[in-house]
Amino acid sequence: MTYIRFMKIYDTLSKSLKEPKPISGKLGVYSCGPTVYNFQHIGNFRSFLFEDILVRTLRHAGYNVNWVMNITDVGHLTDDGDHGEDKMEKGAAREGKSAWEIAEYYTNVFLEDWRALNLVEPDHRPKATDHIAEQIAEVQTLIDNGFTYETSDGIYFDSTKDPNYGELVNLQAQVLQAGARVEMGEKKNPHDFALWKWSKHGEQTKSTRQMEWDAFGKKGFPGWHIECSAMSIKYLGQQFAIHTGGIDHAPVHHTNELAQAENVTGKRPWVDIWMHGEFIMIKGEKMAKSGGNFLTVATLKEKGYDPLAYRYFLLQSHYRKQINFSWEAMDAAAAGLVNLRDAVKRIAADVKEDKQITEKFFAAVEDDLNTAEALAVLQTGLKNASVTKEMVREMDAVLGLHVTSEEKDIPAKVQALLVERDVARNAKDWAASDRLRGEIATFGFTVEDTADGQRLL
Ligand code: AMP
Ligand code: ZN
Repeated sequence: MTYIRFMKIYDTLSKSLKEPKPISGKLGVYSCGPTVYNFQHIGNFRSFLFEDILVRTLRHAGYNVNWVMNITDVGHLTDDGDHGEDKMEKGAAREGKSAWEIAEYYTNVFLEDWRALNLVEPDHRPKATDHIAEQIAEVQTLIDNGFTYETSDGIYFDSTKDPNYGELVNLQAQVLQAGARVEMGEKKNPHDFALWKWSKHGEQTKSTRQMEWDAFGKKGFPGWHIECSAMSIKYLGQQFAIHTGGIDHAPVHHTNELAQAENVTGKRPWVDIWMHGEFIMIKGEKMAKSGGNFLTVATLKEKGYDPLAYRYFLLQSHYRKQINFSWEAMDAAAAGLVNLRDAVKRIAADVKEDKQITEKFFAAVEDDLNTAEALAVLQTGLKNASVTKEMVREMDAVLGLHVTSEEKDIPAKVQALLVERDVARNAKDWAASDRLRGEIATFGFTVEDTADGQRLL
C-alpha cells in the first residue's frame, strides 16, 4: 500500500513528494479542531466535512488511518497573532461563566452537531488543557536549542533562526505588503510568534486569568500553535502523513506549528501532505464567529432541514473552492438529497450492474476528493439503472448521506465479521480488529467504536 493514489492531492509541500512513499502501519492524519468559546458555525463544519471525507476515502482505499482532531480550549487569541484577548476568557466574561464551563458547554454542542452531520469519530480528540506538560516540554526543547527569546509578554520563537520558516506559504520570499501594519510589540521580527505567554495580573480588573499554569518561573499559558505540535507528535509520532485545516490556518497557525515541530524533533519534513479547505461565504463575506453572520447546525434544524442536506450541499462543490451559502441553494440541496434517496429506493432487484460506476466514483474521490464528480457518477448510474443497492451502500460509506438508511438489513457476512471483530477486540488483538474493519468497509459499512461497542455507519 502506498500513497500513490493520493499523489494528486494538491498542496504546497506535497509537490516535493515525488516518489510514492511506502506506508507501514498506521497513516496519521491531524486536523486542527474547534476553538470552543462559542458555537461552531456551518463554515467551520465545512472544514470538518472535507476532513471526514478524506478519512472515509483513505479507509475505503484500505489505509489504516489514525485520525486526530484537537479541541482548542486555551491560548487562541482574538487576533490569530499574539495580540488581543484569549478567546476562552472572553467567552467566559461574555456569559458570566468560568472559562472551564464555557469550554465544556461549547464542546458538547460541537459534538452534538458533529454527530448530526454524520461525521466519523476521530481516533483521538485531545484537549489542549489536558496536554500542558507536553507543550511545556516542547517550549523547553526550543529554548534549549536556541530558537527563542523572552519579552515582558512571554517566550517567543525567533523565525529568523529557522532557514525553512514560511516554506508552507513561501513567506520568506514575500516582503510584507507595503503599508501592512504588524503589531511588533517587543518582537524582533514580524513573523516571530509566542510559544508561551505570561499571565498579566492586575491587567484584568475583575480577576486574574482563569486558565494559567506555573512554568518557566512564572504563571502563564501556552501560545495557540504549540498545542497542535505537541498533541500531533504525541498521538501520531514525530513525522506523519497528512495535516489539514481551513485555508486561513496556512500562513500563521500551520506555518508556526511546522516551525515548532521540525525544530523540536530536528526531523524534516514534519508532514508529507498539507490540505487546506476553502471558506464558506455568506453574502460575499467569510462566515465568521466574530462577524456575527454565522449560522449553526441548530439553525438548520430549527428551519426544518435534515442536517445531511447540508452535507449534500457541501459535497456538490470541491473543498478547495470558495462557496456561497444561500437558503435557495440549501433548498436545492435538500430537494437533491430527497431525490437521491428516492432514486435509491426505486432500484430494482434485477438492475444490470455496471461495476465501472463504482470504479469511476472512487477514482473521483481519490482524485483530490472530487465529491462533485463522484455524486454525478452515482446519479448517472442511478438514471441508467446500472447500480445495485450494494454498490450504492459502498459509495455512501464515503458520502455519508444515509441514502440507504431505510434498509435496516445488515448482510449476514457483515454480521459475522462484526462478531469476529468483537472477539478480536476483547482479546486486544488490534491488528485483527483493524483488518476486520477494512473488510467490513468493502461492504460499504464504516465501523465506529463507541463506549457501548461497535456501531455501523
Ligand atoms: P476555529 O474554531 O476558529 O479554530 O476554526 C475551526 C476550523 O474552521 C478551522 O479549520 C478554520 O480554518 C475553519 N473555518 C473558519 N471559518 C470558516 C469558514 N467560513 N468556512 C470554512 N472553514 C472555516
Ligand atoms: Zn492546529
